[in-house]
Amino acid sequence: MQQRPRILVVVGTRPEAIKMAPVVAALRVDDAVDVRLLATGQHQELLRTALAGVGLRPDVELPSTRPGAAAADRAALAVALRPAIAAQAPDIVVLQGDTTSVAAAAAAAHGLGIAVAHVEAGLRSGDLLQPFPEEQNRVYVATVATLHFAPTALARANLLREGVDPAAIHVTGNTSIDALHAVVARLEPPSPRTDGRRLLLVTAHRRESFGAPLAAICAAVRRLAARGDVEVLWPVHPNPAVHGPVRAALAGVAGVTLCPPLDHAGLVAAMQQAAIVLTDSGGVQEEAPSLGKPLLVLREVTERPEGVACGVARLVGCDADRIVAEANRLLDDPAVCAAMASGASPYGDGRAGARIAAALRAWLAARCPP
Ligand code: UDP
Repeated sequence: MQQRPRILVVVGTRPEAIKMAPVVAALRVDDAVDVRLLATGQHQELLRTALAGVGLRPDVELPSTRPGAAAADRAALAVALRPAIAAQAPDIVVLQGDTTSVAAAAAAAHGLGIAVAHVEAGLRSGDLLQPFPEEQNRVYVATVATLHFAPTALARANLLREGVDPAAIHVTGNTSIDALHAVVARLEPPSPRTDGRRLLLVTAHRRESFGAPLAAICAAVRRLAARGDVEVLWPVHPNPAVHGPVRAALAGVAGVTLCPPLDHAGLVAAMQQAAIVLTDSGGVQEEAPSLGKPLLVLREVTERPEGVACGVARLVGCDADRIVAEANRLLDDPAVCAAMASGASPYGDGRAGARIAAALRAWLAARCPP
């Protein structure tokens, strides 16, 4: 029997699982392609929860990398991934985003002479150190990828500026919006809060927020909670560099609820309830505008400027006074809040997975004719 073309999807962290699920689902609508899933072990626990949430199980799972080691150990992860990828003998390896897993898998596949397709290609902050190492990882993957799935026209323009062949770029929208739509369809409609307090949802986990910026975010949260008319919900990332300082600064503070990471449906439900979302997360920057939630981005630069450009997000950095002032403005001025709650989503229409699957099938058909 003729062997089916094989795609190996590699994931290492929570956002990769969430954002890759729509691609896997679109590829598995029939049996034409053999789709396999490899988990790198980068963030094992968060990844397992996220994969379970989307009904996926890895076909291959590498042992967990030492906590905190992955960013420095891209080369070590590439060495571990090489035999695992070779053993699957895929026609193409599909990667999503900008993590150490993505860069390591790209290096391993490229070294083996296996084609690489990159989902969420072309995001650029323009600063190799912010976010670090993600910006470096994205730039690197673009140099070895055969197919580039850019979520927006701006991402495409970034790739073209770096010399990527226009024929290799497909503008697809971001698969996070597909995933968001799928979760929203399963959730009960959000019920209004009954205690009269508005919810502020906070997430922060990026390396460049560690230390003084995170302390400033905590100070801002404490001051906002002291208003008395808001409740802050912060699902705290398990990284010790986040968990330790956030707990030390905010555990037991009135009006602040710290909880473990939520599953994706829980996080989406919290976003639906929120009056404002404050985050340094990439994925949450894409999701909140689609839910019509004003978004304060706790970063100095972002590789997702589209939300800022269309007025649904503001880049507020990590200065406590600035964060408090911007949040207070949104809480106290309904017109300002309404202007940022338009629901305009520059990141996609929920059909990115289908577009990516179609492009992959076309590429496989050209390369592996029946
Ligand atoms: N997320 C989640 N639970 C949480 C926090 C975030 O499911 O407690 C989801 C979020 O909705 C988004 C994704 O995780 O889909 C973003 O991942 P993360 O913030 O870890 O990484 P980034 O997007 O910054 O790479």
